[in-house]
Amino acid sequence: MTGVIAFIGLGHMGGPMAANLAAAGHRVLGFDLVPHARAAASAAGVEIADSAATAAAGADVVITMLPAGRHVLALYRDEGLLAAARPGTLFIDCSTIDVADARTAHELAVAAGHRALDAPVSGGVVGAEAATLTFMAGGGEAEFARAEPLLAATGKKAVHCGGAGAGQAAKICNNMILGISMIAVSEAFVLGESLGLSHQALYDVASTASGQCWALTTNCPVPGPVPASPANREYRPGFAAPLMAKDLGLAANALRAGGIDAGLGLRAADMYAAFAEASGAAQDFSGIVHVLRDAAARA
Ligand code: NAD
Repeated sequence: MTGVIAFIGLGHMGGPMAANLAAAGHRVLGFDLVPHARAAASAAGVEIADSAATAAAGADVVITMLPAGRHVLALYRDEGLLAAARPGTLFIDCSTIDVADARTAHELAVAAGHRALDAPVSGGVVGAEAATLTFMAGGGEAEFARAEPLLAATGKKAVHCGGAGAGQAAKICNNMILGISMIAVSEAFVLGESLGLSHQALYDVASTASGQCWALTTNCPVPGPVPASPANREYRPGFAAPLMAKDLGLAANALRAGGIDAGLGLRAADMYAAFAEASGAAQDFSGIVHVLRDAAARA
């Protein structure tokens, strides 16, 4: 029995996720600091509470979808979310945050008499709207089992990755592979250009050979070979470069904290941070091919 759901953070992702839960027949009490986010969620069937704490006080499950770890910890601790909830409430944090912050959030929730699960998502705004997200969950078996029906209403797949923080760990490891592979595919196209190789010829070979990967066959960074890729629509996202920079920054934090000298992951984090701050601010992450092409031309 799921009962009432409090949903805090009704932004690009949280808004449609809360709407899908309401559409699936759940009673959803939502809250966001931003008035237009509250208005859009209200129009989609979410009841709007006066504050995050008020929403949590009347709920059996509290879902958060917030920008970063500091927002989650501030809400849990300083803004009284944990204190306001009834004992035994399940706290599911779907935001993408540091593994260390996720573990702290779990500890705080359990110390306050609650249950906790980290459940970050993959699939973007399109997946949130279409309820086709993939969830990566960290926490106990019982917590995952209790969350599963809710995750099923907003996504197509939920993987239980292990204990507290394991969902966030899976998310940043996956996105580190993605960031590095997008740079690798882009560098290969730039090298191919300099060798007089057409984009289509390289694509036709690599997409059916050992260079095959998602960054090439789904999100191809040059226009032409994959008609649906952002390169064919002036690099409009898709998966925006600042979000990739954020996720690689979390991976870099974890690498440094663990004393792991992963040269490619750290370099990819630096490259995406610079791209997101400059020309990539509003571009899909595949737009990094331009940075690599410009750098090659200058060398
Ligand atoms: P967003 O900025 O659109 O939404 C976050 C919302 O949280 C905002 O509306 C903000 O007002 C609200 N908020 C912040 N502090 C609050 C507080 N104390 N109380 C109530 N509301 C508060 O961000 P988003 O794109 O929805 O992303 C949310 C999370 O999902 C991030 O961690 C992001 O990394 C992750 N994510 C995003 C995508 C994507 O494509 N946008 C994909 C996967 C994961």
